Amino acid sequence: MASTELRNGSRHGLTGKASILDGNSFRAENAPALTARTDSLVQRRRRVLGPAYRLFYRNPVEVVRGRGSRVWDADGVEYLDLYNNVPSVGHAHPAVVAAVQRQMSLLNTHTRYLHEAILRYADDLLTTFAGPIDQVMFVCTGSEANDLALRVGRAYTGGQAYIATSEAYHGNTALVSAHSPALSDCEPMDPALRVVDPPDTYRYGSSDAAGAAFLASVRAAIDDIESSGDRLAGLILDTSFSSDGIYPGRPGMIRAAVELVRGRGGVVIADEVQPGFARTGESFWGYQRHGLDPDIVTTGKPMGNGFPIAAVAARSEVLAPFAGTRPYFNTFGGNPVAIAAAQAVLDVIRDDELQSHALATGESLRAGLRELAGTHPAIGDVRGVGLYTGVELVPDGTSREPATGLALDVIEELRARRVLTSVCGPANNVLKLRPPLPFAAADIPQLIEALDGALTASGA
Ligand code: PMP
Repeated sequence: MASTELRNGSRHGLTGKASILDGNSFRAENAPALTARTDSLVQRRRRVLGPAYRLFYRNPVEVVRGRGSRVWDADGVEYLDLYNNVPSVGHAHPAVVAAVQRQMSLLNTHTRYLHEAILRYADDLLTTFAGPIDQVMFVCTGSEANDLALRVGRAYTGGQAYIATSEAYHGNTALVSAHSPALSDCEPMDPALRVVDPPDTYRYGSSDAAGAAFLASVRAAIDDIESSGDRLAGLILDTSFSSDGIYPGRPGMIRAAVELVRGRGGVVIADEVQPGFARTGESFWGYQRHGLDPDIVTTGKPMGNGFPIAAVAARSEVLAPFAGTRPYFNTFGGNPVAIAAAQAVLDVIRDDELQSHALATGESLRAGLRELAGTHPAIGDVRGVGLYTGVELVPDGTSREPATGLALDVIEELRARRVLTSVCGPANNVLKLRPPLPFAAADIPQLIEALDGALTASGA
């Protein structure tokens, strides 16, 4: 593969970059159909927040309340939430709310005082990695976690060049945006970054073929880095390839590629913002289901159930060159209230057995979706693991061309049927079904019925 392709990314058969941040977005031309209140909120938002923000849906939803996997709008209309992993253990989970309230009424400060709760939580979190990862640093967002991880990896390897997948989104800081090819139409990419295709199990036809292609792309990227005189820093990847289009694949699918990176002297950063905290059901962390042994693990939104807390975990030896040579301070990272939220989340995941629940419920969900695919040839593929599911829409059963317009219409029709979700993948044609973990088997018929109606109404 030519070096320019590795720097810009190429997706076999798929053209046109559509950032995950811009696919399912309200546009000015949708304004005439809005109610007076929605229109006024949209205009005020634009006036005071400026043009960078995006809203979901042609008819944006004003959400005011949530519980479990349900949210309610300002008119009291109830929606089934198939999208949000921020409230990972459920909207407004009472145990998290109580923990935050309790700690907030006692003390909230930063990490330059002794506080036992952060130590207890760090010990607890470290047990979930069940491997050589033995230290954790706390930050507030997934972006901050990945920013720190990229710096830690560079300090440890002495290399500059990372490899990332072609529609990956890892966050919004200058450094992380430059390693998020999903933003490459509007942000400068890091000059040393090499971009590889994700293991697209649908177009390669099997996990084995997709894994082999991924291995070949990663090998080509490392060769390109070395032959150009750059030095490998590592591979940053979301093992569920969520913004790339959701390709969990069979366990172990990406193992050879990951081992190659480590064998050639790079670090592997597992960005667990999407698959982490039990969502895949097969394991607590997404990388564990592939039998990987990453050097650095980053976490984000599911960690505090909506309270901003995120983390970078690594072996002490990997952290040392960065952490041992400079003081690191993050005012809000790991504050006592954030830790109280995170501890409550971890406790709820265990107490409510949400990992096994995600495994079983996700399988039932995909069984229902596959049955629906029998009557809707536009459903080209149903894939996923645990409560992370992609439904890829194509024009009909004979072509794997992305049906982007159809997918965007379907999510609007789902919204009209009180089901919230969105799209992902380079062509924005993959429905992303990623509900809060308490999403129940009893919720599945509502989704299937709504999707059936939405596909028919959209002309599929
Ligand atoms: N990594 C991944 C895989 C993500 O999906 C996101 C956010 N969608 C981030 C990092 C950035 O996290 P945050 O928005 O908390 O900065």
